[in-house]
Amino acid sequence: MLYQKEIEIKYEVDVFVAGGGPAGVAAALAASREGKRVFLAEARGSFGGACGAGLVPSLATFTDGVHLVASGIGSEIRSRIAKEIPITARWTPLKVEEFKLMLDEIMAASTVRYSFFTTLVDVAVKERKVEYVLLSGRAGLFGVKAKVYIDCTGDGNLCALGGAQYEIGDETGSVMPATLCSLWANIHFDRRTIPDGARLEEAIADGVFTYADRHLPGMQCADFDRGIGGGNIGHMFDIDPEDEGSLTQAMQWGRRSMAEYTRYYRGYLTGFEDLTLVYTSDVAGVRESRRIKADHMLSPEDFLNRAVFDDEIGRYCYPVDIHVMNTDKAEFERFQKEYMTTLRYAAGESYGIPYRSLVVSSFDNVLVAGRCIGSDRSMQASVRVVPGCFITGQAAGVAAALAAESENVREISIPLLQTRLLALGAYLPNANV
Ligand SMILES: Cc1cc2nc3c(=O)[nH]c(=O)nc-3n(C[C@H](O)[C@H](O)[C@H](O)COP(=O)(O)OP(=O)(O)OC[C@H]3O[C@@H](n4cnc5c(N)ncnc54)[C@H](O)[C@@H]3O)c2cc1C
Repeated sequence: MLYQKEIEIKYEVDVFVAGGGPAGVAAALAASREGKRVFLAEARGSFGGACGAGLVPSLATFTDGVHLVASGIGSEIRSRIAKEIPITARWTPLKVEEFKLMLDEIMAASTVRYSFFTTLVDVAVKERKVEYVLLSGRAGLFGVKAKVYIDCTGDGNLCALGGAQYEIGDETGSVMPATLCSLWANIHFDRRTIPDGARLEEAIADGVFTYADRHLPGMQCADFDRGIGGGNIGHMFDIDPEDEGSLTQAMQWGRRSMAEYTRYYRGYLTGFEDLTLVYTSDVAGVRESRRIKADHMLSPEDFLNRAVFDDEIGRYCYPVDIHVMNTDKAEFERFQKEYMTTLRYAAGESYGIPYRSLVVSSFDNVLVAGRCIGSDRSMQASVRVVPGCFITGQAAGVAAALAAESENVREISIPLLQTRLLALGAYLPNANV
């Protein structure tokens, strides 16, 4: 089938950002603060991505235990919703509605132009450069032309649509399971005395569950007094994040599985006897999908060596968190060992993230930020959490602003990039400026 159509170019800007999750918001704000004209397209009806529409109930650590590493736009955003929680907290519970509203306010107060319900559907490439992108809005298709494009879709959709190289999953292409996040009410947090997974083995033996999934991230307290919890509960195994049919089945299983977890929480834990499911997200909580081929692919050695790079744009420290790939006991033990001990840092330790891991190998005017940056799978399992996405998003935004004139992301001055990032508040102890 050959399909041709004249499409209006609706926006001509310096920087186009695809996706309004943590990485996209940080990228757009950073580029706009550098004085550039920015347009951001978000497919859903809110900012926040997995932590907005996706209902992910908490933010991972912003510090390495000694230093504030997700500083700049990341810590600025956090300070607006979690003033009362010390920045050193390992987890920051999220009130999702407040988070979305706060991001609306920050973005509305910026010079970034954006629209929700605007989905990137195609990418026109000529000689290693993206010429324009095609978006689907409420009245049909339109184009956006930019000097630099940033892929913040989590799944690397812009890059993949443009034909970039990428990697996905383990040696067999399998990715870690997704989770359908959820909101719950009537929880008596004052009576919560045992950890969420404590009696899982007993419940599995009693036949509560269809699958013997021993890995339960659990319920975050969203509102202690009102008994509201955010659920990161249950896994949807064997998903193919590039196939909507697979995700459709996963969503339907995720919704059905909530009845099993309701039974478990009510019957086996304390404080959850009156628990009620309020809502499950419309987003399949995909943790792992495409990793875009970049000029540097972060590697396990980078984690183990606490790598330092000349072109460092930030440092991060979250452990390698590859969720269980199946329901074998041995697989749960693998996860626990890696996450709790072998692939976890001591306080004050971190790895560097080089600018090159944001520079998409296939193109000259495209950067990638957030969950889908250039990395191997174990590093993706660390840098994918929200503070990591703020770090790479902020850096991509500043770099795109610097590259707007040459329209070539490899022709920017690294010292200038680091200087501008330091001015934004980034943590760059190894910068040579
Ligand atoms: C179940 C689950 C639990 C998690 N738990 C935690 C946790 O406790 N703490 C933590 O810090 N992190 C957690 N994470 C990780 C974290 O939430 C994500 O990795 C992070 O949000 C990724 O940010 P991002 O901006 O790269 O992508 P996303 O948050 O996925 O945002 C991408 C945005 O792009 C939009 N988009 C995608 N395609 C298009 C398109 N074609 N056109 C327009 N827009 C598009 C999407 O709608 C979305 O809003 C969890 C993730 C999951 C899935």
